[in-house]
Amino acid sequence: MIIKNEKERATLIEAGKRLARVMETLRAKVRPGVTAEELDDLAEQLIRDGGDSPAFLGYTPEGARRSYPATLCVSINDEVVHGIPNESVKTLKEGDIVGLDFGLIHEGVVVDSAITVPVGAVNEESKKLLRATEDALVAGIAAAIPGNHLGDISHAIQEEIERAGFSIVKSLGGHGVGDLVHEEPFIPNFGRAGSGALLEEGMVLALEPISAAGKGAVTIAPDGYTYRTKDGSRSAHFEHTILLEKDRARIITA
Ligand code: MG
Ligand code: MG
Repeated sequence: MIIKNEKERATLIEAGKRLARVMETLRAKVRPGVTAEELDDLAEQLIRDGGDSPAFLGYTPEGARRSYPATLCVSINDEVVHGIPNESVKTLKEGDIVGLDFGLIHEGVVVDSAITVPVGAVNEESKKLLRATEDALVAGIAAAIPGNHLGDISHAIQEEIERAGFSIVKSLGGHGVGDLVHEEPFIPNFGRAGSGALLEEGMVLALEPISAAGKGAVTIAPDGYTYRTKDGSRSAHFEHTILLEKDRARIITA
């Protein structure tokens, strides 16, 4: 999506605010004993109460053999992304880290965001992993300036995560968003500064660093969606939808 006028911009900004409000409510609900399905039900209810629609429910990503069955992706510990919340009982435990990821459609505009949240008290490595991955998102956003290249975003994200001693999950990454859940370009979370497509004013991008405490190799579960780290190490994921303005990126889903 390229934002061409003030009306599109206003709709995008409103969509992001709505998503952010739902996300903050979900974050506040995270505690030991809560199930992934409870969070999913709440997310869907809050989105629909606002007159909007969940973007992932019923969406079929490229290459998938069935549509996604829930509003929310809930990915716990070694689950990397796309954990299904409502096909088995997944109960949050003290010490877990849990990724919450969803998209929202407001007046035809799609926005996408994710956070990873500690459940109660978590170990030092998990705290460090969350901090490094969120810092990587901040660094990626800072590099998302018209005139820079896609590779500047990728490089900034990679540096932040690797400097902290963690790995990039290289098979997953960010994407264009706005008209559809996933649009071109694919945005790798690693790469060379100055390489790739030129960034232009009006672009709407979802940046999403995805890290692993061990190695970054992943497997996909028989459910066709849930990615896990191969080595069982923990993974973190933070995502914002951003709009490229004249000389900075505006965070839409903050
Ligand atoms: Mg995304
Ligand atoms: Mg997402």
